[in-house]
Amino acid sequence: MKSLLRKDCEGCLACINACPHHCIYPVENKYGEWQAFVDKDKCSGCGICMQKCYLNNVHVFFNDIKRCYAVWSRNEGVARNSSSGGFLYELSRFFLQNGGRVCGVRWNESFRPVYKMTNEINDIVAFSGSKYVAPMINNIYRKVEQELANNNDILFIGLPCIVHALKTFLGKDNKHLLAVDLLCSGTPPFRYLKEYVDWLKRDNGINVFDDIRFRGKRDFSFSLLYKDIAIYCQDMKHDLYWKSFQNRTFLQEKCYHCRYHTVARIGDMTVGDFWGLGKTKKDYHFGVNLVLINTDKGLNYLNKTREALYIEERSLEEAVRGSYCLQKHSDRPVRSRIFHLLYRKNALLPLLKIINWPK
Ligand SMILES: Cc1cc2nc3c(=O)[nH]c(=O)nc-3n(C[C@H](O)[C@H](O)[C@H](O)COP(=O)(O)OP(=O)(O)OC[C@H]3O[C@@H](n4cnc5c(N)ncnc54)[C@H](O)[C@@H]3O)c2cc1C
Ligand code: SF4
Ligand code: SF4
Ligand code: SF4
Repeated sequence: MKSLLRKDCEGCLACINACPHHCIYPVENKYGEWQAFVDKDKCSGCGICMQKCYLNNVHVFFNDIKRCYAVWSRNEGVARNSSSGGFLYELSRFFLQNGGRVCGVRWNESFRPVYKMTNEINDIVAFSGSKYVAPMINNIYRKVEQELANNNDILFIGLPCIVHALKTFLGKDNKHLLAVDLLCSGTPPFRYLKEYVDWLKRDNGINVFDDIRFRGKRDFSFSLLYKDIAIYCQDMKHDLYWKSFQNRTFLQEKCYHCRYHTVARIGDMTVGDFWGLGKTKKDYHFGVNLVLINTDKGLNYLNKTREALYIEERSLEEAVRGSYCLQKHSDRPVRSRIFHLLYRKNALLPLLKIINWPK
């Protein structure tokens, strides 16, 4: 008999990584969100999956913010290629140069975002640029556990809910792990991006592309590229996917009551955009990171990467004022309720057009 592992499952899939009998598997619900199902005939009842489920540990592993910085890469090429100031590229490069490994998210060959562990610089380049969509998890928690057991240094960059899932999976802090949580406004299931890009290809006569970029530096655009040239490019007001993401139309259910929209943080460091930043001593041209230091380990690694960065200490009030993700709120827009009521598989486009009318 097959059934949902728990009714309130949020699809982190750590239980699948944990089950010794391989009897849990992921199933997409009608919105394309992952949920864990169990084959009860194979289950031994050992209970390991529930020990590793972060929903049983929702108040554990949070830290208070100790310090707050505005940061950007001294290398303009790095900052230009990144979503914000390029801090995560520099931190990742530091880990590689010192024999460590980095877990981040890159597009796979079918343009699905996936978590990957790497010690290669070309993956770090591919991690750059935020992919505003839920990534595939695969067996990343197990890989991190294995590498930590070999005393390898690991930098894990992830959405706060996934960092929480990883920490619960591991069970305790490890001196070899630096966990970075991103400020995160929400993620749509991958299904919507896939359907949207397939439509864009048909509508614009596009046969091939080799990159998808959100947030063009000049005009905050969404684009499909081929050999670094945009073959489709629209700004936030005119691209339906981008606009629907920004106005929170089609996020995963858990994002509408996210427990990480607070100043208590799950990672050793929290990284995002410094939207509320006032005047700085030095000008920046290609974006600036907000870096929140939540543990001594986080501060230690910021200090180790200083040479590659421009860093200015700022007040936490300034950071919180400009960041939606650090404030408690409960705003599920009406358009999101309508979207979830009316959505049918393979009928995304007409619905988005109606919901986002007038353009
Ligand atoms: C879904 C999502 C929503 C975000 N929302 C906000 C927000 O509301 N406010 C804010 O201040 N900042 C937000 N951010 C963070 C911001 O976009 C930048 O990623 C962050 O400031 C780091 O910038 P960077 O220039 O150092 O690196 P970037 O060039 O942004 O590098 C991206 C890093 O994030 C990882 N990454 C990319 N896509 C994903 C993904 N889908 N899931 C997990 N990891 C991913 C990559 O592995 C890489 O390490 C969000 C990021 C994501 C992925
Ligand atoms: S571990 Fe994650 S996927 Fe498994 S039941 Fe808990 S929330 Fe769902
Ligand atoms: S109780 Fe044990 S065997 Fe059953 S699903 Fe959970 S981890 Fe797997
Ligand atoms: S908004 Fe919250 S629940 Fe949704 S992906 Fe981001 S961290 Fe996870």
